[in-house]
Amino acid sequence: MKSKITKSRAAILVSQNMPLEIDIIDFPEKLEFGQVIVKVEVSGICGSQIGEIDGHKGQDKFLPHLLGHEGCGRVIQIGEGVNTVKEGDKVVLHWKAGAGIQSNTPKYLWRGKTLNAGWITTFNDYAIISENRCTKIPIDTDSTVASLMGCAITTGFGVIENNAKLKMGICCDFWIRRNRLKYDTSCKVIICLANNCS
Ligand SMILES: [Zn+2]
Repeated sequence: MKSKITKSRAAILVSQNMPLEIDIIDFPEKLEFGQVIVKVEVSGICGSQIGEIDGHKGQDKFLPHLLGHEGCGRVIQIGEGVNTVKEGDKVVLHWKAGAGIQSNTPKYLWRGKTLNAGWITTFNDYAIISENRCTKIPIDTDSTVASLMGCAITTGFGVIENNAKLKMGICCDFWIRRNRLKYDTSCKVIICLANNCS
């Protein structure tokens, strides 16, 4: 299926510890099975990306590449096989696999050469996303809040369930803090528990 989008502006990680390059990238001519083109409205940035940019996650074998794994946008086009979202849907873009097909990763070009990208990237105006990395949400959802569902909030739920081991019905305050500390895992999430909140 021919892609409706031929080019997009993108922030590209070319060299670690250097500013991202903002440039135009070329889309592949065809949209593959299970792929979805999304116009990205909001993108978050989390520690995982900062670690990649700053080199704290070690040497990057995939340079140059695109970035971003939490965002919110609108579906522009769906590839063959896609049935969980349709054109016009508002979607949250998330790094964790959800419902739908896991497609091939997109084959973008930049200055005539391969530009690496994963199943989801959000630092680009238009992105090819694997169906299982985008999920339909109500059209009136706040886009900024929705973006956080792509990583920060889900990672926070992981902390609550796996680290804090809270049970259903327990009341707690939940803070998300994002910063530039040096760490080598994904999002930095700090939770604060309160025993007597009403
Ligand atoms: Zn993240």
